Amino acid sequence: MDFTGIKTNLEKKGYAVSCFATKEEAAAYLNGQIDGKTVGIGGCATAKEMGLGESLQGHNQVSWHWNGDPRESAMATDVYISSVNGIAKTGEIVNIDGTGNRLAGTLFGHKKLYLIVGCNKIADDLDGAIWRARNVAAPKNAVRLNRKTPCAATGGKKCFDCKSPERICKALLVFWERPIGIPETEIVLVDEELGY
Ligand code: SF4
Repeated sequence: MDFTGIKTNLEKKGYAVSCFATKEEAAAYLNGQIDGKTVGIGGCATAKEMGLGESLQGHNQVSWHWNGDPRESAMATDVYISSVNGIAKTGEIVNIDGTGNRLAGTLFGHKKLYLIVGCNKIADDLDGAIWRARNVAAPKNAVRLNRKTPCAATGGKKCFDCKSPERICKALLVFWERPIGIPETEIVLVDEELGY
């Protein structure tokens, strides 16, 4: 995929952007950049697929809930790592959350935020990114979390805008531009499908 257009649009919105052909190259880059830090990782399938928790743990102090660490321990780290549920070629970024820790972690309390984005997360515009977050990412996450929701019961193919007590979609966050609560945010674009 040609990242030229999205990279330019993200840079105009205040982000640093780095681009990689493979998840292994992206993971090696992040391991070089993040050293001797405290690191929080949200519930991020992308980071899991990249083996980032394991590799960063060797030379950083890492908190992530795949390890059973309490969510709060990732909230005041130097570095926070997450993915996104949808990103527009025009530069807007979309995330949906049920608990709120992942959204909060991308907004405040850290010195640097990395958002790792596989090419499957990219939509043409903001409407497309929101549609993807609601109808692709959230249902697949509901399946992964084994929730009793209509989207999970039907294989995670679409959102039913359910009223289930186990609904995972409680909040939707759009970055129109880079929020200033975290001094630096870098978008790491990877030309492979990663996460949901
Ligand atoms: S609103 Fe309900 S049906 Fe839609 S994705 Fe979220 S949990 Fe699934």
